Amino acid sequence: MVYQASSTRYAEMKYNRSGKSGLKLPAISLGMWHNFGGLDYHENGRAMLLRSFDLGITHFDLANNYGPPPGSAEELMGRVLKSDLGAYRDEIIISTKSGYHMWEGPYGEWGSKKNMVSSLDQSLKRMGLDYVDIFYSHRPDPNTPFEETMATLDLIVRQGKALYVGLSNYTAEQTKEAASILKGLGTPLLIHQPSYSMMNRWIEDGLQDVLDDFGVGSIAFCPLAQGLLTNKYVNGIPADSRAGGKSQFLKEKDITEEKLNQIIQLNELASSRGQSLAQMSLAWVLRGERVTSALIGASRVSQIEENVAALKNLAFAPEELAAIEKILK
Ligand code: NDP
Repeated sequence: MVYQASSTRYAEMKYNRSGKSGLKLPAISLGMWHNFGGLDYHENGRAMLLRSFDLGITHFDLANNYGPPPGSAEELMGRVLKSDLGAYRDEIIISTKSGYHMWEGPYGEWGSKKNMVSSLDQSLKRMGLDYVDIFYSHRPDPNTPFEETMATLDLIVRQGKALYVGLSNYTAEQTKEAASILKGLGTPLLIHQPSYSMMNRWIEDGLQDVLDDFGVGSIAFCPLAQGLLTNKYVNGIPADSRAGGKSQFLKEKDITEEKLNQIIQLNELASSRGQSLAQMSLAWVLRGERVTSALIGASRVSQIEENVAALKNLAFAPEELAAIEKILK
């Protein structure tokens, strides 16, 4: 059946400006790191993308290596753009990245001009696109001068292959240096993509101040700590969960008794707010409007629906914030 986007798709979503740029992003964005690869079920990936768009999620985040196998999430995006979403291209923000290992030899990863230009060309081909909206340096390269990596981001924008540029996994100091170079080149840094959740707060220790100083937005990845900050593991490890499956990134041993105990208490606190733990965790990341967008992952449509409903209550009473601190102390 031909997809027709919902006429109410902009009714509920909140859109936040990314730093001091002209670009607004949805408060909740969808990432395609897990569950959209060639080994996953195409119809489920397509259904999640279309439902997201119907809920006002206009931003889909990719990277060259998302799959598995690497590249296959971009291929899925390309297929769904061709079959369904292409007609809405001007309503959609697509990001991709280079930096992690993609092909053999000295140019298959990191931050050289050779790697980044080739990688983006491959990504555009896989997605069937002329340009992406945001192109990221996925991780800082300790052996390539930042001048080269940033000059390549600038080049890519001037070539029209990306509209904006971002950095991911750069420390506060590295971000300061890179953002200064980009500013000098005339391609201001749009956004930083760091990990951030109730359980992982490193960005509060300097990075957020640098982003404020430069007028740069942020999009928090793993806001649900890969599913830990939901009610998913409260009664054991489901076989169809990330920790119960073959993911290299979340394993059974990561769900320690201490963490589980915290999750159970957080879950009760969320209930008292009339939210699920996933919803409270997303509201927490978005509290105070320092984060532009919470970048969720999902394995099924119902999770996306539940997560977007977090926007109905983003406010925290001081006692609730204090209770969270006490639980996670
Ligand atoms: P999350 O912390 O949002 O975890 C997503 C997982 O949580 C889902 O796959 C699902 O797990 C579970 N989940 C989500 N919603 C619910 C719910 N309502 N109830 C129960 N369980 C739920 O983020 P991810 O770790 O998936 O990362 C999100 C995105 O961030 C990535 O897709 C990617 O775009 C980006 N990212 C960027 C990185 C970088 O280096 N720049 C690194 C990592 C991620 P299950 O599959 O078990 O159902």
